[in-house]
Amino acid sequence: MNTETKPLDFIRQIVADDIAAGKNDGRVQTRFPPEPNGYLHIGHAKSICLNFGMAKQFGGKCNLRFDDTNPEKEDTEFVDAIREDIKWLGFEWDAEHFASDYFDQIYDWAIKLIKDGKAYVCDQAVEEVREYRGGWNKPGKNSPFRDRTVEENLDLFERMKSGEFKDGEKTLRAKIDMNADNMNLRDPAMYRIRHVSHHRTGDKWCIYPTYDWTHGQSDSIEGITHSVCTLEFEHHRPLYDWYIEQLDIHHPQQIEFAKLVLTQTMMSKRKLTELVVGNHVSGWDDPLMPTISAFRRRGVPPEALVDFADRIGITKHNSMTDLALMNLCIRDRLNKTATRVNAVLDPIKVVIENYAEGEFEMRTTPNNPEDENAGSREVPFGREIYIERSDFMEDAPKKFFRLTTGGEVRLRNAFFLKCNEVIKDDAGEIVELRCTYDPQTAGGKAPDGRKVKGTIHWVSAKHAVDAEVRLYEPLFENDDPGDVPEGTDWKDMINKNALTVMKNAKLEPMLKDAKVGERFQFVRMGYFCVDSKDSAPGSPVFNRTVTLKDPYKKGEAKGKK
Ligand code: ATP
Ligand code: MG
Repeated sequence: MNTETKPLDFIRQIVADDIAAGKNDGRVQTRFPPEPNGYLHIGHAKSICLNFGMAKQFGGKCNLRFDDTNPEKEDTEFVDAIREDIKWLGFEWDAEHFASDYFDQIYDWAIKLIKDGKAYVCDQAVEEVREYRGGWNKPGKNSPFRDRTVEENLDLFERMKSGEFKDGEKTLRAKIDMNADNMNLRDPAMYRIRHVSHHRTGDKWCIYPTYDWTHGQSDSIEGITHSVCTLEFEHHRPLYDWYIEQLDIHHPQQIEFAKLVLTQTMMSKRKLTELVVGNHVSGWDDPLMPTISAFRRRGVPPEALVDFADRIGITKHNSMTDLALMNLCIRDRLNKTATRVNAVLDPIKVVIENYAEGEFEMRTTPNNPEDENAGSREVPFGREIYIERSDFMEDAPKKFFRLTTGGEVRLRNAFFLKCNEVIKDDAGEIVELRCTYDPQTAGGKAPDGRKVKGTIHWVSAKHAVDAEVRLYEPLFENDDPGDVPEGTDWKDMINKNALTVMKNAKLEPMLKDAKVGERFQFVRMGYFCVDSKDSAPGSPVFNRTVTLKDPYKKGEAKGKK
């Protein structure tokens, strides 16, 4: 991509204009602010590419800030995973911070708002707060605790901090306007009491600041110039601005963009947590998950995800992106880089009766026809080979161009093969094909000009590496997995056939030494990589990264979107 000639999206345009106008002394400082309560998913990749991408493009800096204000759900496991995923995507952060590092400062600022008469301790329970808040077109009512004196508020807030009250007994609220059109301005909570340990501050605090009362102040402390977030925070912006104005501190500009929503993909961290905790998947990095660590384990190149984020762009309108576009980016990348190898996932044995027993020969095979510098390798061929079960049909229809009884097919980078006899077991299952080959057809052509229509892949039986191969389909078949009929649990929509395990795959010998991180095209079958967790020397496990094409979708032929 050439960023210089590409038109700027609306956020980059704002940044460029700010630089031109000398705002923030021409400085650009962004941040990526994940909450460490789960692993990053593909939606986060969009935000990462935007925040880090802008810093790079405009000669600025991007911080990593862990937004750790909900101690119950947060954990250092998630902190570590988030760091690893960002690095893997190819980005480096300038400073690393935790919102919890600012708890003292944020507490002092709360004291300041109390002293200025702009915050008060409220004894209302959650339900009462909700009732008094009113609603759309319904005015709110002031809390009976709203007019407490500054001294009383300071005393109560101090006692909240020192642990005198139980969870939920009191809150600190901003005193704004109980009749504001924007609900977020109707005296929002700033602090809640929670007697829980925090993964970093331990038991130092039993009151924790809310997201709204933390986020803007953290941005300000770090000198963030452009604070980008997703559209659902648009209605929080007046509150973001209000806090900063009351404190009279550096004022970052909050800008909202549309989040990534992908078809057939569950993106909410809360729901992904349910999948993990409920053992619907094997973990956060189960290749069935839409997390960055799952993509890594499935063999997706990070460059493909960055390319995807670039192609979808940044807008202010919510829309759904087709999973097919992401797959296209992955294939585009792999097509250029992946070595082509032969792998038979569901094998039938073929005995070539006119090939001398005990003999074999080497066939030269290009490593990647898309890349002339990729070279070639030697692949053994002999009397016994494996072919894909689906490449043979006993009573084949006319249009079946692979191997049939009495028919001839081309073995890729080898010879013409003819099937003479089918051997079955007692159950009628095909166990072996007795065939002959034509040694005159080594170049893929017959000297007498006879034609074959199909070319199939194969693996020498004697040299084959046994492996397990895992095939993945989307975990949800419906475009919007969150949209389920009433009374249905979204988890009931999980595609039970999303994983297919091929236990008996036969791979060409070079795959014996395949390493984690290497990526292959299994000819005609898709792109694959070594599984980083379940593979062991001598018993490799391969994951399918992506198929070679997307399945035909109903409606597409009619031009329906
Ligand atoms: P989720 O909604 O999936 O639970 P979240 O927004 O709570 O995620 P955070 O850890 O708060 O997760 O997100 C960190 C950053 O990533 C935020 O700035 C958020 O706006 C952004 N982000 C989260 N989901 C998406 C998405 N689908 N597309 C783009 N950006 C996203
Ligand atoms: Mg969040």
